[in-house]
Amino acid sequence: MVGSKEKLKEKQDKRLQEISLLRTIPYSDHQRWWTSETVAVVTGANRGIGFEMVRQLAGHGLTVILTSRDENVGVEAAKVLQEGGFNVDFHRLDILDSSSIQEFCKWIKEKYGFVDVLINNAGVNYNVGTNNSVEFSHMVISTNYYGTKNIIKAMIPLMRLASQGARIVNVTSRLGRLKGRHSKLENEAVRAKLIDVDSLTEETVDKTASEFLKQVEEGTWESGGWPHSFTDYSVSKMAVNAYTRVLAKELSERPEGEKINVNCFCPGWVKTAMTGYAGNISAEDGADTGVWLALLPDQAITGKFFAERREINF
Ligand code: NDP
Repeated sequence: MVGSKEKLKEKQDKRLQEISLLRTIPYSDHQRWWTSETVAVVTGANRGIGFEMVRQLAGHGLTVILTSRDENVGVEAAKVLQEGGFNVDFHRLDILDSSSIQEFCKWIKEKYGFVDVLINNAGVNYNVGTNNSVEFSHMVISTNYYGTKNIIKAMIPLMRLASQGARIVNVTSRLGRLKGRHSKLENEAVRAKLIDVDSLTEETVDKTASEFLKQVEEGTWESGGWPHSFTDYSVSKMAVNAYTRVLAKELSERPEGEKINVNCFCPGWVKTAMTGYAGNISAEDGADTGVWLALLPDQAITGKFFAERREINF
């Protein structure tokens, strides 16, 4: 008899095969809202999923800005794609550093004038396997949540207003889910606050992140009902997921023609440096849903969470 784990694996493999096929179908002229003048920015793109998203977006004909916090590594990564004939530019960007964010925005404004797509991929995680240290919690929450939020806020004024809407895509994780079979969150109060999209505010998300960090400082986090594995990372992605919904609400109030759609996705468990190359899918497959979301012809989708090109629950 086939166990439920095997069945799940079979289902996942089938979906991945379907997606590989979907990826081979070219977008029709009718679906293509973009041109070679369309500008996409990807953060943390010198390697892994970010690099792959740059490659795939450039492959679809967009102008893509590969950003990296390390100048030399980023230049080299961009060179690989430029030599392959892709329209890829490079600029340094450290999402933890406000002067780097400012400098980047200034450069974009002067060189391109606007951005159509922003993919927030940069992120850190310091736990592998069953190890669950919170030693680097500050860095994890600062980069994954506050860094992402800061670059979004700086870039919004630079996003091109167009009928199809500009797009923001946040790379998050199922580890940050609030409910469902795989959610590891036991703190009901936190769940109740973050799940109610109507009352959810940025302040609530900030408070949740700082409450977690306070418990880490006081040494009480273990009884806080936070997810038990990859705790700091899971909390950081939970915060980005919630912020995606808050921002989507805010941006959907803009008048027609000025809208920005913002969604998030989980790439799956991907063979990259972050997982010690222990994932079960390639960076190419992991990048797929992010690229698909960035290029979605349907403009009305915002404030949602996706995986394997399907909507999933927060
Ligand atoms: P990698 O570690 O390969 O890539 C992470 C990238 O983020 C690197 O380019 C890294 O730069 C960059 N980065 C880290 N901090 C900063 C910063 N302050 N400013 C700018 N860039 C920064 O991991 P992945 O490709 O796997 O991860 C990409 C995204 O996907 C992350 O957000 C991750 O959380 C998410 N994700 C990954 C999963 C997986 O299984 N791999 C699963 C679910 C989500 P540098 O090279 O300088 O360190």
